[in-house]
Amino acid sequence: MTPARPGPGSDALRETLAYYRDLGVAELYLDERSEEGSLPFAENSRKRPPAELAALLQPIASEVSGCTKCRLCKTRKQTVFADGSPGARIMFIGEAPGADEDAQGVPFVGRAGQLLTRMIEDGMGLPRSSVYIANVLKCRPPDNRNPEPDEIAACRGYLERQIDLVKPEVLVALGKFAAHFLLETEEGIMRLRGKWGSFRGIPVMPTFHPSFLLRQPAQKKEAWEDLLAVLARLGIEAPTRRGKAT
Ligand code: URA
Ligand code: SF4
Repeated sequence: MTPARPGPGSDALRETLAYYRDLGVAELYLDERSEEGSLPFAENSRKRPPAELAALLQPIASEVSGCTKCRLCKTRKQTVFADGSPGARIMFIGEAPGADEDAQGVPFVGRAGQLLTRMIEDGMGLPRSSVYIANVLKCRPPDNRNPEPDEIAACRGYLERQIDLVKPEVLVALGKFAAHFLLETEEGIMRLRGKWGSFRGIPVMPTFHPSFLLRQPAQKKEAWEDLLAVLARLGIEAPTRRGKAT
């Protein structure tokens, strides 16, 4: 039987906790969506407060901005470290900056970035600023060529340190390079997508890269299923889609 939901009162918090415990809910998440439109930040005891994380990430970003560990330092306009909240529950990982990102110093701001933003905001119903977004490479490969293995190896420590600090509850690997980085496999993204993997104990959902979705819009349905799986895993309700039956 469902226990009576407590109403407002002096011991409302204790009663609410008891209510959820009786329902079998072991952990409670703070839903701060209404405040400043932020994503509900998890009660994640392994994780430092967002302000502290920002202070710990800052020196890594400055190290990256002067990095010369691979040849891409010679052709970049500027490095692209990350965007979003270090307190995020969800971290998206892309491949490498493109021309727009190289010009602006922010990941996913070009055409693919605009699609990613729509997937996060319109699809998942989350402010883009509430997630954390970074790339495997921090510098643009010339002519948007694929990252070379030695470039990925040279850059890898930066992304690993970002993940270790942010400690998201879910990593979303956008495309083959992010999926291969996190899952240490050579399997194609067609086979990998939609199936949970893990990186240092953090669940990983591989999905299609938004650049691929721009070329193959019919695959958006699969990408949407992958993002729904991410929301479900975090206990976040998917927004109801306006203009669609059911
Ligand atoms: N593609 C990526 O993988 N990352 C970006 O930041 C932009 C485009
Ligand atoms: Fe350094 Fe990474 Fe840029 Fe290469 S891609 S120069 S390793 S920051």
